[in-house]
Amino acid sequence: MQILLDVDGCLLDYETPALAVAASITGHVATKEERSTTWDILDCCEQYRLHKDPIHEAWQAPGFCLGLQPIPGALDFVKRLSELGDVFLVTSHMKQAKMWVWEREQCLEKHGFTDHIEGIIHTHHKYKINGKFLIDDRVSNVVDWLNASADYQIGIILDHYGYDESDYAKISEKWPTLVQDGFVQYSITFNEVISAIEER
Ligand SMILES: [Mg+2]
Repeated sequence: MQILLDVDGCLLDYETPALAVAASITGHVATKEERSTTWDILDCCEQYRLHKDPIHEAWQAPGFCLGLQPIPGALDFVKRLSELGDVFLVTSHMKQAKMWVWEREQCLEKHGFTDHIEGIIHTHHKYKINGKFLIDDRVSNVVDWLNASADYQIGIILDHYGYDESDYAKISEKWPTLVQDGFVQYSITFNEVISAIEER
């Protein structure tokens, strides 16, 4: 059984350093309320929307990707997943960041993730990758993947911060049967994801 797993926002804490960069460029620290309005940091408040380009550029700078830290419990989560199936990390690189792919691989190796996975797939087309499960913090990635895939595949939204809850509510309205039949599941903890996979 193949388990596809996103990296940023699922295993690595992109959020904290990305917000720090945005705050240092704009002088504005996004409030919790502003941040919780959308998955997209650049769209969470007026100040960040106005400075999209410089913020984005700073995220692409050498060293940013390499310095991302694991979310607490992430390594143990991957170890447990690897006992349930073959884990492939599926991650979208920043296209303009020349070092991103290399830094991502170094970072994942440095923190021990590569000891428990079958491989790393760098792609902007996650929906093209086959697997029984896709675990991702972005609702649209999960929906695109389910729309493109064969039957009996299951998308799990892992939303540590709760920023995608409103998007999830929208898909629950749009595709109620996907949700009712368990083809899309919403979780906020690693344990919930493990349980969802064990139950299938
Ligand atoms: Mg992500």
